[in-house]
Amino acid sequence: MAEARIIDGKGFAAGLRARIGAAVEQLRTTHALVPGLAVVLVGEDPASAIYVRNKGEQTREAGMHSVTHRLDASTSQDELLRLVNQLNNDPSIHGILVQLPLPGHIDAQAVLSAIDPAKDVDGFHVVNAGRLSVGLPALVPCTPLGCMMLLKDTVKDLRGMHAVVVGRSNIVGKPMAQLLLQADCTVTIAHSRTRDLAGICREADILVAAVGRPEMVKGDWIKEGAVVIDVGINRVPARDPAAAAAGKTRIVGDVCYAEAASVAGAITPVPGGVGPMTIACLLANTVTAACRSAGVPLPA
Ligand code: NDP
Repeated sequence: MAEARIIDGKGFAAGLRARIGAAVEQLRTTHALVPGLAVVLVGEDPASAIYVRNKGEQTREAGMHSVTHRLDASTSQDELLRLVNQLNNDPSIHGILVQLPLPGHIDAQAVLSAIDPAKDVDGFHVVNAGRLSVGLPALVPCTPLGCMMLLKDTVKDLRGMHAVVVGRSNIVGKPMAQLLLQADCTVTIAHSRTRDLAGICREADILVAAVGRPEMVKGDWIKEGAVVIDVGINRVPARDPAAAAAGKTRIVGDVCYAEAASVAGAITPVPGGVGPMTIACLLANTVTAACRSAGVPLPA
């Protein structure tokens, strides 16, 4: 069997960002509309700080209005809710993202629920989750949206394919399954209580792994020629023992790439697969939210 085609998420995301930049320019010149994204970071989680910095940079690079609120870890829930409310009422802001995880003393669900669903560019509000599940226009969570773009680009016609999604989180697994269902796939959702997980994965024409367990999906779990979308981002010790001993790490997915690449028909690498799509889709959602709020059509 030939090596799997590598699905180049990094390249696809760069193209998407360029198209978004052109759309933003068109909105500015044609409708005097500048999409605005506000990102809120509470505390000093190092990974979150990097994500937030990248989001701000890419928002500005696309020509959009970008605001970042960095709040102390001791910020109270009421203070955070007041900021969300202020952003809800700010006409220059079309998208609001509160970076997760939040410090333990804050009820994340209460904060996500306080975001105006029309500005909920993460797509985590129950109104958007509900709209997605009944097939109404919704702001769709960025990671599964990005996975769908890569899948549609790779497969073209998804109808009738058996898709297995491993993971049922509200931010990845469940919306991913909804999107695959909308694309007329036959969808199986697997999770930590699933029996014979390997056997179920082996039936998949499309296998999406969103588990958070390094290289859990082995090569012999994959049907020959299947399309594998690896959402996982897991930090593990560096391959070189001396580097590992010095605390160096590397990133791997939820799929054992070395094994999977000789069985699958196409596969996303980690890094460079799904990851770069997430922020690009956040920008896309912000443009969508801005157009809907202004009542102007999305640029083609
Ligand atoms: P969660 O921890 O919220 O959910 C993990 C899911 O995997 C749960 O549904 C859980 O099942 C299931 N699971 C855990 N262990 C097993 C197992 N042994 N067998 C089968 N299923 C299992 O994670 P997220 O959905 O937030 O993220 C998943 C992965 O995707 C992580 O690696 C995360 O870093 C990555 N990620 C990547 C993003 C990107 O931009 N590329 C964005 C978001 C996440 P149960 O419900 O039964 O507990």
